[in-house]
Amino acid sequence: CGIVGYVGQRPALDVVLDGLRRLEYRGYDSAGVAMLDGTGRLAIERRAGALANLEQRLAEVGTERFAGTSGMGHTRWATHGAPTDRNAHPHSDASSKVAVVHNGIIENFAALRAELETAGVEMVSDTDTEIVAHLIAHAHTRGPAAGDLSASVCAVARRLEGAFTLVVTHADEPDTIVAARRSSPLVVGVGDDEMFVASDVAAFIEHTRDAVELGQDQAVTITADGYHVSDFHGEQAAAKPFTIDWDL
Ligand code: GLU
Repeated sequence: CGIVGYVGQRPALDVVLDGLRRLEYRGYDSAGVAMLDGTGRLAIERRAGALANLEQRLAEVGTERFAGTSGMGHTRWATHGAPTDRNAHPHSDASSKVAVVHNGIIENFAALRAELETAGVEMVSDTDTEIVAHLIAHAHTRGPAAGDLSASVCAVARRLEGAFTLVVTHADEPDTIVAARRSSPLVVGVGDDEMFVASDVAAFIEHTRDAVELGQDQAVTITADGYHVSDFHGEQAAAKPFTIDWDL
């Protein structure tokens, strides 16, 4: 439903929670965040219900593990799997290195899930999204995209059918976020030494008015100092820069 990702100089948790608050008007049933602390540790918390439930949970566990300057958040509107804690996003893989949030529906998730289960992967949620985390972790470990998050996300996106906005981090590439889209919105916010990705400009409008709209079947890699857009085959692609000149 709502997505925000951030790489910059400020504590990402504050930026991401603010962004999620700005997307609340769209409606949702669960919320979650994933943060990378710069030393390659990934922290994830997610909760069914209002954003306040997630914030209460974060207060209970303490936000030390969430002190990084790169991270993502999601508000979920469940399509596959009940609105429970374990079905809330972000989703991860068995090594807990990958975090994925997703808007939309992966139409061929059952076939991909069966393929993963045959290979011995254990699913911990009922969503259509979780398979994406396992597939990206696998692509990042071996094969032509190994060690390259952008190439791994693109390789997996090529296999997906349906509608998706995906935002992905990997603990081995802590200052990078990769996002991809098909038939679901994705915008980049270009700040000063900080970059955003979101499903809606409302998520970052208080930080920057410079935005870039991604086209169909495009992926973007953001770091604090810039962004790079490609198609799902890794070829550089042109996206549409625009200035947000209205008030929300
Ligand atoms: N299909 C995914 C799920 O049910 C994402 C739903 C959404 O767009 O929030 O978890």
